Amino acid sequence: MDKTKAAAVLKSGVFWAVLFAVAAALCAGYLIYKKTHQQTGRFAVINVKGETLTTLPLGEDTEYTFFTERGVNTVMIKDGKVSVSYSDCKNQICVDTGSISHVGESIICAPHRLTVTVTGETDTDVVVV
Ligand SMILES: [Zn+2]
Repeated sequence: MDKTKAAAVLKSGVFWAVLFAVAAALCAGYLIYKKTHQQTGRFAVINVKGETLTTLPLGEDTEYTFFTERGVNTVMIKDGKVSVSYSDCKNQICVDTGSISHVGESIICAPHRLTVTVTGETDTDVVVV
């Protein structure tokens, strides 16, 4: 191996390091974009007695407990889906409903007069993975 070849190998090492750094930055950028995009895409609207208590983005895993005048409901958001993970209501229909993620779907806790409704962009349903 002569000197020019050795120099080329050294340069290619730097090249790959730079390429890796750029790829890592692009990857991180994509993940951040994806997360923010999900956040703006869909929301879970929590209503009690017809009044909106809060709106939670489905792109962010979280858990909230709502203390209504009739009882307790814990709303959980995980993997872009929302569910009522706990309720002290009599019929447990809200808990049994499970997870919802499609726009227009809702979970109703009739005893507590609490509803969880998914709102947002409907066209995000069409995603080719
Ligand atoms: Zn319930």
